[in-house]
Amino acid sequence: MNDYKVDIAVIGGGPAGMAAALEAKKQGAGTVMIIERDVELGGILQQCIHDGFGLHRFQKRMAGTEYAQVFVDDIESSDIWVLTDTMVLEVTQDRVIYACNNRDGMVEIRAGAIILAMGCRERTASQVLIYGYRPAGVLTAGAVQRYINIEGYLPGRKAVILGSGDIGLIMARRMTLEHIDVQGVYEVMQSPGGLTRNIVQCLDDYGIPLHLSTTVTKIHGKKRIEGVTVARVDENRRVIPGTENYIECDLLVLAVGLIPENELSIKAGIELDSRTKGPVLDNNFMTSVPGIFAAGNVAVVFDLVDYVSQSGEIAARGAMKYLRGQIHETPKYLKTIPAGNVNFVVPQRLVAGCACRTQLFMRVKSPDKKAQLVCGEGQAQIFQRKYPFVAPPEMISCTVDVTGTGDVTVTMKEGENHG
Ligand SMILES: Cc1cc2nc3c(=O)[nH]c(=O)nc-3n(C[C@H](O)[C@H](O)[C@H](O)COP(=O)(O)OP(=O)(O)OC[C@H]3O[C@@H](n4cnc5c(N)ncnc54)[C@H](O)[C@@H]3O)c2cc1C
Repeated sequence: MNDYKVDIAVIGGGPAGMAAALEAKKQGAGTVMIIERDVELGGILQQCIHDGFGLHRFQKRMAGTEYAQVFVDDIESSDIWVLTDTMVLEVTQDRVIYACNNRDGMVEIRAGAIILAMGCRERTASQVLIYGYRPAGVLTAGAVQRYINIEGYLPGRKAVILGSGDIGLIMARRMTLEHIDVQGVYEVMQSPGGLTRNIVQCLDDYGIPLHLSTTVTKIHGKKRIEGVTVARVDENRRVIPGTENYIECDLLVLAVGLIPENELSIKAGIELDSRTKGPVLDNNFMTSVPGIFAAGNVAVVFDLVDYVSQSGEIAARGAMKYLRGQIHETPKYLKTIPAGNVNFVVPQRLVAGCACRTQLFMRVKSPDKKAQLVCGEGQAQIFQRKYPFVAPPEMISCTVDVTGTGDVTVTMKEGENHG
């Protein structure tokens, strides 16, 4: 077994992991190692050849691959160790990482602090209830993205998309450009799951219909998918009899949600948040296990990669504080409390007495117009901002100065269109 001892080990070489490793170096870390199961750094951005990345960070529209390359170049010109083609199998509470690869077999890495940056994965056909067989031609949007953009395969000729998550919307446009006939996007909810800009740029601009309150109820075909039945649903998501419609297709693309990759976190005994499905974090992005931090989509599924990179930097600064002994092993915590139309807030807790500037990330429960965000610490109002439009797919971020003396309540007050 090959052994390593490092100051900071980062698991995952996507945008979160790369930003974390670079920030750790900037903050003066000695040995920093990225462990990545793929053969190259970049994470999921390697298959994102469309633009729209980096608007906040670089004030320009970049392809996902271009965005990733900026960080890859910086890592290549640094002394950060990169172990690619290496799969992490286990992380222990005393910060030992067990991994394996073809070169060394088992690898043991002892780290002063660990940053989890394993990203997220897509919900699959087995996680959504659809009657019928599971023939060839039922694929997640991410798999279709990989087949077309990296492997060079055409996965079908006539497609139906179930779910209006961002990857599905982006793939509706991409498939159209590859001459796949996209019949439509079918979304069970009353409002879209993806960003407004993607509805406009990927569906409206290409004349692809979006059918809200509609779902796929049956998959037809045994070996290869031959078609699907779609039907309208009521406000309780029950199928409305008599609205069924058969659509011929040889590809069903699923864009039905993303979940943080949390197997390693669960095995390490890290407390998870039932709403974000990622670890419960404090303002340093430290998990419930001292010295283990989390960033990017493994922490909470972000909408913009710019936020993903920022979260990596927050976790890296936290990890450096931990290494310098500036974080108590068992800190006393205050809570961030979502209220009104706010569904969840990350970080979920703040170190008592932290007296710091903290970035909060949140999503709302339902779309609204002219809403107002108000943050209060104890009795004091510490932040307020008006939003012309808020919707669950669009993450909201604000920076607040907290004294660390009381819980912080984060309220999105009702606007014109609530409910
Ligand atoms: C299929 C898919 C397509 C997407 N497409 C878009 C898009 O088009 N536009 C957009 O804005 N956002 C897209 N996203 C969202 C995208 O994930 C984020 O914008 C961002 O890339 C997340 O960064 P990350 O570093 O948190 O995760 P990732 O980019 O997913 O990186 C995580 C890395 O961790 C590695 N890893 C995981 N587990 C282990 C392990 N056990 N051992 C070692 N390494 C491990 C993975 O191989 C991966 O390289 C997509 C997400 C998915 C899942």
